[in-house]
Amino acid sequence: MEYALIIVSLSHSNIDHIFHYRIPARLRGSIEIGMRVMVPFGRGNRKIEGYVVGFSDNADVDESLIKDIADICESYSIISPKRIELAKWMQEKYYTTLSNCIQCIIPKRVNEKNFACVVLNDENDNIEAEIEKVMKKDTKQRNVLSLLLNGDEIPVSHIKNFLEVDDAPITALIKKGIIKRVYEQVYRGNFNTASVKKTVPPPLTEEQENACNAIFNEMDNFTGKPILVHGVTGSGKTEIYLRAIEKALNEGKSAIVLVPEISLTQQTVERFVSRFGDKVSVTHSRLNDGERYDQWTRARLGEISVMIGPRSAVFTPFENLGIIIIDEEHETTYKSDQLSPKYDAREVAKKLSELYKCTVVLGSATPSVTSYYKAEKGEYNLCILSNRVNHSFPDIEIVDMRAELAKRNFSVFSEKLSRAIKNNIENKEQTILFLNRRGYSTFVSCRECGYVMTCKNCNVSYTYHKGINKLSCHYCGATVNVPAVCPSCGSKHIKYFGTGTEKIEQEVNKYFPEARVLRMDLDTTQRKNSHQAILDEFRRGKADILIGTQMIAKGLDFENVTLVGIIAADLSLNLGDYRSGETTYQLVSQVAGRAGRAEKKGKVYIQTYSPEHYSIRYAAKNDYAGFYNQEIEYRKSMVYPPFTNIFLIMFVGENEGYIKQCLSDLLYVMKHYNKNNMFTHLGPSPAVISKINNNYRWQLIVKCENEEKLRNYVLFCLNKLKQNVNLKNISIHLNLNPNYM
Ligand code: ADP
Ligand code: ZN
Ligand code: ZN
Repeated sequence: MEYALIIVSLSHSNIDHIFHYRIPARLRGSIEIGMRVMVPFGRGNRKIEGYVVGFSDNADVDESLIKDIADICESYSIISPKRIELAKWMQEKYYTTLSNCIQCIIPKRVNEKNFACVVLNDENDNIEAEIEKVMKKDTKQRNVLSLLLNGDEIPVSHIKNFLEVDDAPITALIKKGIIKRVYEQVYRGNFNTASVKKTVPPPLTEEQENACNAIFNEMDNFTGKPILVHGVTGSGKTEIYLRAIEKALNEGKSAIVLVPEISLTQQTVERFVSRFGDKVSVTHSRLNDGERYDQWTRARLGEISVMIGPRSAVFTPFENLGIIIIDEEHETTYKSDQLSPKYDAREVAKKLSELYKCTVVLGSATPSVTSYYKAEKGEYNLCILSNRVNHSFPDIEIVDMRAELAKRNFSVFSEKLSRAIKNNIENKEQTILFLNRRGYSTFVSCRECGYVMTCKNCNVSYTYHKGINKLSCHYCGATVNVPAVCPSCGSKHIKYFGTGTEKIEQEVNKYFPEARVLRMDLDTTQRKNSHQAILDEFRRGKADILIGTQMIAKGLDFENVTLVGIIAADLSLNLGDYRSGETTYQLVSQVAGRAGRAEKKGKVYIQTYSPEHYSIRYAAKNDYAGFYNQEIEYRKSMVYPPFTNIFLIMFVGENEGYIKQCLSDLLYVMKHYNKNNMFTHLGPSPAVISKINNNYRWQLIVKCENEEKLRNYVLFCLNKLKQNVNLKNISIHLNLNPNYM
């Protein structure tokens, strides 16, 4: 085979194809599919990275134009054939270049200088005699050993390159106990597993047993159907994951556990380490490239078999993948909204399950409406756990804030919550005050009757735009003035809603000066580890009250927290997004789950101006099915997902008039090709954040039930537009079913 087929690491759509490169004589026989290589590219023959995806005996162009591969980057394949297939699937699905997808799957190349070393084994008492034996014979082992005799730690890769040997002599010396591998000091980013005590699995509850059986069954008889574990907070989902992982490991397979970054606390990781010890590794966004590369290498070499991490951990290179667990599957962070490819880890997991015949488990106390709908349709198997393992549910009470205003109570705390906080301080029990602010939108509502300014067309709340002092709908683009009085009751108390954690901290200090307070939000958690530090402090009882955003809603288990106050449930109810109801149900349930995790019974107050809203009512009753039934009706009547797909096209540029005009032109093109009215268009409208750094942002929404047809239609129409309109100064963002819009 003379030529290698290569994808180059430039992510421009014009060069998104496979290039032929000649394999020079010195590299013949050492190039494999999936290897990372350096190749000269373009007129200047600049050296760039490329990935070998195949071989050929024939050239596709004039032979004299074909260049030589310059070098190989690693001595092994960086991406397996199955993962090349995954990359191709991602390329189509997320309309990006193959090179982009490969780079998303593999780790960035880093200097391997200080990783996987060997050193003389100082624990071997008989080492001198052993060394003598080896040194007598002129073998590869002797050559390796001579490099190590002065006691240096030397990277395995250096030894192999320098002596031109493979792993065999090194492994033989390790077997004889003469040298040993040293990982702990050299692998970057290792989780310290040694300090975690081993635990014995508890006997399962009946509900856990049933869920385990369903998962085991799928592991034994692969059908490809993911299993959705819907278990209330504290129902013991993690124990189910542990058992499923145990089974995978016993069968010689590996496991990936996806956890939202925010829940990836020491506490969470330790539960896995306490069962599987040093087979476990962790990745997270704070690892640098080197650390990530090393953890990735340990997985590739089979030195670990359980990887815990956020979204990107789905790409952990286990070739014997047995199970992928996605905890808190409803979390929006599983979909990448910013970087290309804008992949969804849940969809990638499903594809991996096809490729590797591995089981996918989705777990949540509040499943996404889309996942639950799939379970209802039979695309997923559903397991339900409706009881907490060892404590009862907290008491949840809805507080009508309109009544507080009528009583002339203008503070952010209702009388009830205020009294409860006071009591808790006196009883030396802890309180969490929660502000479920999410996204950026600001809405306008009436404090007297609770009326919210809403687009009648789209049934989502209007978003207030400060710059123009107007309200606009992010779906259809309708714009209205801010009313002076409430259209419903005539009150003058109609204004935009905004309260932050700082404001709450001030109020706490004012009303409860004796309380010790901690605040956790984006501002107070900028520094590395500050997130964990605040939580530790609270756990040690160093504060009476913890104030926070959704950061504190996740997976935390504080024994002494008996009171939770949700300051304004309205903040998530009026996001100007069709998922506001879903988001609210999820946030309220999660926060409520923080109260009364130990013996003491918990109490939760939900303060709101919309106490009759179904999301709040059902969340207070812990009735997911009730919530789901109402929510799915709304989705159906308004034709929102899961009954359709939403494609968001955003144009960003300095000239607002021009981007608006171009979007209108695009709409014109789209309408022209909209045969049979298969597609619905909404907009153009200003984006939720309508201006960043002097760049205006406008968007157009296209809906269609068929995802593939929708994607093809949008890409086709955009191409048509590009042929006629100059889009040079506009950056175009495309997102299918985005998290926020
Ligand atoms: P979830 O993930 O569903 O919120 P957890 O897995 O955190 O629930 O379990 C809640 C608590 O119950 C944990 O402290 C866990 O150790 C404990 N637990 C789970 N399963 C059992 C069991 N079968 N027997 C006793 N305790 C259990
Ligand atoms: Zn009103
Ligand atoms: Zn609208």
